[in-house]
Amino acid sequence: MAFDIKTVMSLWLLVSVISALTVVSMYFRYRDRFQGIAFWALHMGLYSAGLLLLTLRGGIPDVFSVLLANFLLVLSLFFLLTGMERFVGRSGRHFHNYALIAAYSLCFWYFFDVRPDMTLRTVLSSLTASLLFGQVSFLLLIRTPSNLRDVTGASAFVMASYAVLSLARALLLLFSPLETNEFFEAGGLTSVALLCYVGLSVCWLVALILMIPRRLLDDVSVQEEKFAKIFRSSPSAIMLSRETDGRIFDVNGGFLEMTGYAFEEIVGKTLFETKLWGDDREYADIFSVLSRDKGARGIESVFRRKTGESISVLFSADVIVIDGEQCILSTFSDITEQSRLRRQLHEMATHDPLTGLPNRRLFDERAADAFARAMRHNRKLAIMSFDIDDFKHINDTNGHAVGDEVLRQAAVRLNDALRATDTVARLGGDEFVALIEEIRGRSDASSVAFKLLELFRRPFAVEGKEIRIRVSIGVALYPENGETLEVLLKKSDDALYRAKEMGRDTWQMAAD
Ligand code: GH3
Ligand code: MG
Repeated sequence: MAFDIKTVMSLWLLVSVISALTVVSMYFRYRDRFQGIAFWALHMGLYSAGLLLLTLRGGIPDVFSVLLANFLLVLSLFFLLTGMERFVGRSGRHFHNYALIAAYSLCFWYFFDVRPDMTLRTVLSSLTASLLFGQVSFLLLIRTPSNLRDVTGASAFVMASYAVLSLARALLLLFSPLETNEFFEAGGLTSVALLCYVGLSVCWLVALILMIPRRLLDDVSVQEEKFAKIFRSSPSAIMLSRETDGRIFDVNGGFLEMTGYAFEEIVGKTLFETKLWGDDREYADIFSVLSRDKGARGIESVFRRKTGESISVLFSADVIVIDGEQCILSTFSDITEQSRLRRQLHEMATHDPLTGLPNRRLFDERAADAFARAMRHNRKLAIMSFDIDDFKHINDTNGHAVGDEVLRQAAVRLNDALRATDTVARLGGDEFVALIEEIRGRSDASSVAFKLLELFRRPFAVEGKEIRIRVSIGVALYPENGETLEVLLKKSDDALYRAKEMGRDTWQMAAD
């Protein structure tokens, strides 16, 4: 059975051009994801160019349609090998292939120019092609990493078929040489071989087209497994919920452990139903910010566990689209312990450890606010400095522990006697200071001072003993005695010193 070789060549060229266009489009689509596709495109381009030159035989000089055409075809197979090596991540050395191509070119030229012989040229081309196709199939079958062999199996089979066909053609030609040097009249065997090449080209195109999606699918399932593992085993709590109504789609083990719920108790419910956020308004605020910014990072919030216990959480979230629906992927870390420690540290930095009263630092902060308010609303305020009289004596006669308890009780009395808007602080030792807001003037200040003197005259009950103390007080007024805390503290201290000099258990107003 013989076919018109020109028609078969045209068909082969057509298949090759379609393959080249397909590979070029693959290159633009997947060049960032997979290596080697540029070499495939180069292979297909050179292959099509070689076939085109072969098809034009008779119409253009033989040096192009024979010498150049065959060189391009063999060179294109070398690029196919290089592209496949890169695709599967197994690049190798190619000295033997450079030598093979050089030897092939030299011999081919010899049988083209010096001793023209189409049979031997075809045998040479077929053997070289068989060696290169053989290397590609060996690469795709054996050298390829085992996880990719499923992906490359079909291509390896096509490549092996090419290698066998080329070898068979070379051997057949050796035993039964061509009777002519005219390619298009080469006869039945050549036309059948060429037709087989066309068939294999179609198979190759299909194998190539299938290889990319299979590898993508493999990559996706690897990624899917990786992310599923991260989701399930992450110590952080992770939750996937719908943006529109807050319905929970999925949670991980960390989330169940943190909240104390079982999977069935929480998945399928809305966040409002679960009352995870004790405060619905806080939840609504957080999620409106989230929808607007398409994500949130490091928001501190309070969660309610199944038992009703509150826990502090640090929360980050991203809006992602799943099956066309806007969803929120949230991660939570339990920071209850850190929050407690932070509050404790803040408390220690701003309060006196013995009495629990604000220390000088917090007093300064509050005073700065109070001064700003007084200035804005044109109001007066008073600074009162206290010092217990002869406190050393109390310590000496009753012991330091009793002295401490007296200081604690004195602090409670001061706090109870003053309004919530006033601030009383312990400056150290037996010295206290009070900031009295919203007073009308001297008379108000003096009645507060009298009240406080009286307050301390009531005995303290400590360890079954009755301890009697007295205090001296110095008072300075804003704005009469000064306009800054520093000045007023100095003046109330001076007034306190005068009260001590006057015999103690009394109060003195600052001299302007
Ligand atoms: P004055 O009438 O002049 O105020 O005499 P004072 O004995 O109260 O002496 P002063 O105010 O100068 O000194 C305060 C004393 O209070 C010094 C120290 O023995 C005692 N003191 C200071 N801090 C503490 C404390 O934390 N606990 C106890 N128990 N005593 C303290
Ligand atoms: Mg004292």
